[in-house]
Amino acid sequence: MEHDHDNENSDHEDSGHGHKHHEMMFRKKFFISTVLSIPVLLYSSFIQGLLNFSMPAFTGSNLIVPVFSMIVFAYGGLPFLRMGKGELEDKKPGMMALISLAIMVAFTYSMASLFIETGSSFFWELVTLIDIMLLGHWIEMRSVRKASGALEELKKLMPDTAERIKEESDAESHGGSSGEETEEVKVSELEEGDKVLIRPGDSIPADGEIFEGSSSVDESMITGESEPVSKEEGDEVIGGTVNKEGSLRIEITATGDDTALSGIMGLVEDAQESESRSQKLADKAAGWLFYIALASGLVTGVAWTLAVGFGLTVIERVVTVLVIACPHALGLAVPLVVAINTSMAAQNGILVRDRIAMEEARKLDTIMFDKTGTLTHGEQSVVDIEAEDTEEALKKMAAAESDSEHMIAQAIRNKAEEKSIEVPESSKFESISGKGVKAEVENEEVYVGGPNMLDHLGIEHRFEGFTDKSGEKGRTVVYLVENDEVTAAVALADKIRDESRKAVEKLQSRGIEVAMLTGDSEDVAASVAEELGIDTYFAEVLPEDKDSKVLELQDEGKEVGMVGDGVNDAPALTRADVGIAIGSGTDVAVESADIILVKNDPLAVVRLLNLSDLNYSKMVQNLFWATGYNALAIPLAAGVAAPIGIMLSPAVGAGIMSLSTVIVAINAQLMRRKSIEA
Ligand code: AMP
Repeated sequence: MEHDHDNENSDHEDSGHGHKHHEMMFRKKFFISTVLSIPVLLYSSFIQGLLNFSMPAFTGSNLIVPVFSMIVFAYGGLPFLRMGKGELEDKKPGMMALISLAIMVAFTYSMASLFIETGSSFFWELVTLIDIMLLGHWIEMRSVRKASGALEELKKLMPDTAERIKEESDAESHGGSSGEETEEVKVSELEEGDKVLIRPGDSIPADGEIFEGSSSVDESMITGESEPVSKEEGDEVIGGTVNKEGSLRIEITATGDDTALSGIMGLVEDAQESESRSQKLADKAAGWLFYIALASGLVTGVAWTLAVGFGLTVIERVVTVLVIACPHALGLAVPLVVAINTSMAAQNGILVRDRIAMEEARKLDTIMFDKTGTLTHGEQSVVDIEAEDTEEALKKMAAAESDSEHMIAQAIRNKAEEKSIEVPESSKFESISGKGVKAEVENEEVYVGGPNMLDHLGIEHRFEGFTDKSGEKGRTVVYLVENDEVTAAVALADKIRDESRKAVEKLQSRGIEVAMLTGDSEDVAASVAEELGIDTYFAEVLPEDKDSKVLELQDEGKEVGMVGDGVNDAPALTRADVGIAIGSGTDVAVESADIILVKNDPLAVVRLLNLSDLNYSKMVQNLFWATGYNALAIPLAAGVAAPIGIMLSPAVGAGIMSLSTVIVAINAQLMRRKSIEA
């Protein structure tokens, strides 16, 4: 932000410590300057006349006003003068240069009046102007800090200490919790491979993998997911999330800068600092405003000199114009919206790597999803069963598959578990490569396998209707064989996520064309597309051709957003107008995407578009307000309304200027109230 030029490494410091430091500096200077201003006001003949009082005179009492004013000018005005100088050195004159000019004009004129008989001086106005400027900057920096406090919030998520499990006890009671010893250590001392105990209600101190226990974890702060996620042995946990009801023992996989949270903080920081198009526009406008203000000041000065002759009135008008024209609101209009918008996005599991993408997202007219793992779960699951007794069939199949590593076996076991089916022991397991499995279940020989298994066994095919119907949808079918007879058929497919339907619907209702891309067969693609109501799809696309499909749509004149995973779909993500990568919770360092969705939820795309709309409307409102304010305030300060008795004093001008800034800040803050729910 441009008012930081006195600080050499301002760019980086601005969002963190530097800002807070400046805020405190302005606060202190404001209080001290205000106290020092009191004698100036008390001994100012104008104020005395106005309020009808007098102060005791003594030798040198006529020096009180100039001396205290000088101190306030030197002490309270210094930061403005220094930053103004910095702006001129950077050849980017802006609001600090204007303020400096204003207080220097006021000061010089008043000092001169001590030696040359001008009839009046400007001291009390100078000091109140400086006081109000300091107050305005203090308040404004406070609102900026509060607005961009997203990083601070994220930092607070990590606990300070953790309960490390001492290694000795591990050997004797592997995986056992009895008799283990723990020690409290600082989170910064944790290392990869350390084991820690996480009690119910604790924050998780680092990224890790559960080796014992199960619980549910509130991950809302990282992924935006409002429901707690259930976790068990082997699952990953994210540092900074909160354990709910059960105790967990985890082995740490990443600490410090390597954690997902650090990655997210880095991205948020980058996004908040990255220049966006609207920012450039606002900066340009602020640059022009300097010259407009200068010119307005000049015109005002000449006009008033011609009208009433050179004197106090002229100086007062010129100073007021310079002060009121400070493009402060303009300088903040965009950065504040960016800061708040980025932090809202982060809270919803949407990480913005490139601000321009957030500005462009609202213009997208086509969203292309990579099917597998985005619209679907990315793994096979049982979607249909036909049998006389489906529970009984699942029970036997799951038992027969209990020793198989195959994806199909896993899907069948999951289904049985999902239905809470008690699976009996099986024995004599045998895998028939490329065909299926054979095992003994409840003293009976059973087979589970595909059509080629039936051929191999020379068994008559059954469930033809089911098989054909499933085949049309590109599903895999496997059968249960008992006593040389096929007794059940199960269809497997990569299940569509529940959120996908709603996401497609919502996008379409916004007038966006939804397209789908997949390496899977035409049958699979067609059936998924039909089920989701997607018109445009590309099937059997080789990974290296994915980006050319994006290009194809772009050639039709479309603005394409591509949603896919960061690794396999990297070229397509890069090619798209806005590349949106679906992260896996802990992996957020996706270089190829502009925007990263922490959680695998297609509805987040809708939220992203809502945020983009909100971002745009707030920026427009703020820019409109900030420029509109100047268009009205400058003529008013110049004294255009003098004939009807409206003449602003410089201090009132400074007040109005600060107020306009605060309004911009409040308007940006109001964004938080808006729902971006899909
Ligand atoms: P693969 O080449 O291992 O993917 O297996 C080819 C086909 O064999 C699969 O499409 C299934 O029809 C069948 N198959 C292989 N393993 C199994 C299993 N564990 N359970 C059921 N069917 C299987």
